Amino acid sequence: MARKVMLVTGASAGIGAATARMAAARGFDIGVNYRSDAAGAEAVAADVRAAGGRACVLQADVADPGAVGAMFERLEADLGRLDVLVNNAGIVGPAARIDEMSANRLTEMFGVNVFGTIYCAQAAVRRMAQRNGGAGGAIVNLSSVAAQLGAPGQYADYAAAKGAVDVLTQSLALENADQGIRVNAVRPGIIDTAIHGKGGDPDRAARLGPQVVPMKRAGTAEEVAEAILWLASDAASYVTGEVIKVSGGR
Ligand code: NAP
Repeated sequence: MARKVMLVTGASAGIGAATARMAAARGFDIGVNYRSDAAGAEAVAADVRAAGGRACVLQADVADPGAVGAMFERLEADLGRLDVLVNNAGIVGPAARIDEMSANRLTEMFGVNVFGTIYCAQAAVRRMAQRNGGAGGAIVNLSSVAAQLGAPGQYADYAAAKGAVDVLTQSLALENADQGIRVNAVRPGIIDTAIHGKGGDPDRAARLGPQVVPMKRAGTAEEVAEAILWLASDAASYVTGEVIKVSGGR
């Protein structure tokens, strides 16, 4: 049987990289998208190939609709099909109150986390939908517990963007429930990845994990990848429009 093809956005690091590696070990060929970390993406692609999969490294800023369109075309040309999209690429900004946030920051935050998710979902649905002759598929979006808790004084813009991802997941799921496409989301809590350092607080996961998480620790990228891969798999064949928390109880 042909291996299925999964496109993981933001697969050069963190949760996306863990998802790509785990998916390759479970039988997927992988489109490894990244924006700037070419070495990280190539390392993930090498691991995918070592696991017996095909890998296609795809540089594209998901906030750029033209780049997203070109990325899907290259994926199809190289790997021949698309079965699963993991909308994982995401950013946070430095801690700030809402009244301190610049227009540029808000534009980038929503450009990557919301518009990027929508651009990729559009391109995937156009290919997967049975109304277009597609074979169906699955989309998994990355939300955050911040969508429910907010993030006052830290990154309320990020929390609002992830709230948009939750609602988008519900609409996309219902629009495509009879098209063979399942759309779900994962809502991670505090996960030990480099994203916290990129937001200016590299020790955030180590510091807050024992303080605010009922399980008293941060999660791992692999623990989130497990939930993503279950939602992407046929084991979740009757699950759509769902958001699964992976947060140690937070
Ligand atoms: P990470 O380690 O910082 O990795 C982020 C990935 O996204 C990198 O591969 C990065 O690629 C890519 N990326 C960023 N902007 C991009 C863009 N415009 N276009 C394409 N790729 C882009 O972050 P992470 O912790 O794994 O987070 C992954 C997802 O989980 C995000 O959506 C995040 O919001 C969500 N999440 C994380 C946590 C957490 O605690 N870690 C909690 C809740 C939700 P380059 O470096 O190559 O640019």
